Amino acid sequence: MTKITFEAFRICSHALLVAVIFFTCKSENEPTREGYIPDQIQPYADTFIAEAKKRGVTVSLDNLIVEFEEGIELNGQQNLTGLCRNSTSLNTPVIILDTTLGWWQSGELAREEVIFHELGHCILGRPHEDRLLENDNYASIMRTSSPLLYAKLPGTVSSVFKVHRREYYLDELFLKTDTEPCWAQTTPTANLNIISEFESQQSPNVKMLQEASGTMWISSSWQLSYSIDGSAPTVIDATSGFETDYNTRIGLDHNGELWALNTDYRLPYNTIWKHDGNLHFDEIYRSDSMPLTNDQIRAFAFTSEGDFWYSTWASDLVFQSANTSSNLIFNSENSNLPDALISHILPMQDGRTIFGTANQLLVDTGNYNFELLDQGESQMGLIVEMVGDTRGNIWVSDQLHLARINSENQFSSSRLLPYGLNYMRINDLFVDRSNQLWIGSSTGLRRWTDGSLSAYCDFSLGESKNVIEAFFIDQQKRFWLQSGTLIIAQPN
Ligand SMILES: [Zn+2]
Repeated sequence: MTKITFEAFRICSHALLVAVIFFTCKSENEPTREGYIPDQIQPYADTFIAEAKKRGVTVSLDNLIVEFEEGIELNGQQNLTGLCRNSTSLNTPVIILDTTLGWWQSGELAREEVIFHELGHCILGRPHEDRLLENDNYASIMRTSSPLLYAKLPGTVSSVFKVHRREYYLDELFLKTDTEPCWAQTTPTANLNIISEFESQQSPNVKMLQEASGTMWISSSWQLSYSIDGSAPTVIDATSGFETDYNTRIGLDHNGELWALNTDYRLPYNTIWKHDGNLHFDEIYRSDSMPLTNDQIRAFAFTSEGDFWYSTWASDLVFQSANTSSNLIFNSENSNLPDALISHILPMQDGRTIFGTANQLLVDTGNYNFELLDQGESQMGLIVEMVGDTRGNIWVSDQLHLARINSENQFSSSRLLPYGLNYMRINDLFVDRSNQLWIGSSTGLRRWTDGSLSAYCDFSLGESKNVIEAFFIDQQKRFWLQSGTLIIAQPN
């Protein structure tokens, strides 16, 4: 008498639930068969072996048979996703998968999580494990039944980012680790202390900067606020000299003083303001003194005191001098600019200015010759942010890639995660005083060091607060994190 264990793993496509049943029966006299893994499954088998090896575990899939079958039924359950059958007489584990169901179309990670569960039974000999974490999530992908634990759920919106949980679940799968992961806790990790948290700052488009005097400024689409020494942000109103607080963008000049551009669509002009150091603003420019009256400004950056670049929705690029009130207008007809909207402008200390269109990068070395940067094979998507460091590096990101332009204008790019678009989104970049690059992302605050990304738990605020929209480190080395609320934290 030999024993065969049947096990099934099911995703009900509309309810997004994984139902699993456990069942045993007996069988005799089945012939021994050789292992076979179809091409579509081989990458997951290879990843399984590699992830095991990374954790010091040796596994062999040599005898494994993987087969496809539609409409798998077992013990009254229909349309099962997969089935792992371990036969001692066959001496061969067999996994049967129905790849016509929704899970197979739900992305690389969903396929991996389902296949790894079955491999957990067949190759690692693991039974079901239904222990819970502090936040009541299952502690193991070997749970009997639940939604997918680290893959994006089929049909859910892209804001559901769970890939950072994968490292923990694979540790648990191969090593049966029982350490609570940081994302199962509501508190920040030990190396971040929250000093204060404010409701006042409204998204979207939050930008933070600090004047040389120490005053922090926080702008968003709806308001401009300041904070002195970490106090609750105060919204700037009409008493500051501002006519409107709608859609104000801010920048620093080379003296570290604040300038503001206001593009309120309700007003027939744009205005440029300068902070006088005492929470009052002086109007420096009004757009009807510029030739481009009423054009809404897209990107905006100061080069030195009062001089600034801006781009318009009409695809013009303007260099405006405060001291002479003169301006230079560039477009595809009078320069080598492409006929495209310029979305980002970054003036560097060394005199270069970098311009970003939707997915092109241009460099002006100071003579208004806008050279297109060769991005090689790693073409960027829509540019999210550009920042410079004091070594002459320019960091540029789209939602998935991080690229560097060095002081010689050479471009190189790294894909941040080996997964698809819906798993991590870059929202902000920041370079600190020691030229360390920080990434505010949909899956937490990350530091980029020597080509690798810090772990989710290294700077975690706790799962509910780890969608970072904007990030800044102030002169006191405090972290300012926009994550729905504005959080000031002190790293340990
Ligand atoms: Zn199972």
